[in-house]
Amino acid sequence: MSTSNVRAFGTESKNDDLKQISIERREVTANDIEIDILYCGVCHSDLHTARNDWGGTVYPAVPGHEIVGKVTKVGSGVTKLKVGDYAAVGCLVDSCRTCASCEEHLEQYCLNGFVGTYNGKDKHLGGQTFGGYSEKVVVDEHFVLKVPANLNLAAAAPLLCAGITTWSPLKHWKVGKGSKVAVVGLGGLGHMAIKLAKGLGAEVTLFSRTESKTKDALDLGADAVVISTEALDMDTVKGKFDLIIDTVPYVHDINPYVTTLNVSGTLVLVGYLGPLEPMVNTVPMILGRKKIAGSVIGGIAETQEMLDFCGEHNIVSEIEIINMQDINAAYERMLKSDVRYRFVIDMASLKNN
Ligand code: NAP
Ligand code: ZN
Repeated sequence: MSTSNVRAFGTESKNDDLKQISIERREVTANDIEIDILYCGVCHSDLHTARNDWGGTVYPAVPGHEIVGKVTKVGSGVTKLKVGDYAAVGCLVDSCRTCASCEEHLEQYCLNGFVGTYNGKDKHLGGQTFGGYSEKVVVDEHFVLKVPANLNLAAAAPLLCAGITTWSPLKHWKVGKGSKVAVVGLGGLGHMAIKLAKGLGAEVTLFSRTESKTKDALDLGADAVVISTEALDMDTVKGKFDLIIDTVPYVHDINPYVTTLNVSGTLVLVGYLGPLEPMVNTVPMILGRKKIAGSVIGGIAETQEMLDFCGEHNIVSEIEIINMQDINAAYERMLKSDVRYRFVIDMASLKNN
């Protein structure tokens, strides 16, 4: 298969900084779209993968799954987009397309395993997939999204992961007018959860450890902020929420949040992957039919639905644009919860280097 070399930013091991490397991209096949990447959002999952927090990272690793750009080539069978159109790619670049999940448009739950935009198994070239910290990407049209024309491109990039990851549980648990939703953690996912839940008509509360984010949360649309480290504050919202979206990336005590669920309410974990500590107390769950759930990103049709909703409601991310070369410092700030509220890489900084 013919390929071309493109510039990318990646890391050779969990202890190394990211630096410029060269990767291969395939030439478009019949159903492929080649995208010149203009902007790429920086997700905490990029950092987890670069540093092998979850195990299983194959090096070199090139993160980035909040991609927007311009179509530069299309295969002979492509109908979705044409050269010159704007296009977006999120966390998925392939799935088996035949299993029960794929048939239900739930590619993110592909029973044969979805192919991630990075650190997935590249079906075309072998080896691992490389993400959006690069000049170009080539993706099957089924996994390419359309960006509503009225949205700022850079600020729309984070919708491709932070947006869909919070949208999917909001829709699954049927959040709408009058729903009482809480969001744990005000970072990339958290701030999108507030905007999208508000867009759907919910009353939204933020749980944060960081008191200095209170004003921002209210400006983003939150109706209330509860400082999660203050027990007295937590008591004021006991039994209140229909849905809690917990975006915290590291192990943490979820018991205080469970008690703030309404009868039959659900706490959905989207952040931390792994065993919870301290243990979860079943008493409030059993006595209130409360549920603890998880959710990963969203399907392709659902991602397009979310993008269209954001177009109609003028919803984008709050971003800080950085150069590709600033990525290591951005990761350090992310570890300090000092992101307001998503870094987005201007990919011209890589191309012009
Ligand atoms: P982020 O921008 O770094 O935001 C995380 C927020 O969580 C922080 O701003 C902070 O908010 C809070 N936080 C951080 N460390 C904490 C700790 N030790 N204890 C309590 N709170 C803490 O990260 P993100 O990009 O939103 O991603 C969040 C998590 O979701 C990551 O683990 C990421 O890998 C995961 N993720 C999952 C999916 C999925 O499909 N399920 C998709 C994308 C990302 P406050 O300052 O307000 O407390
Ligand atoms: Zn992500």
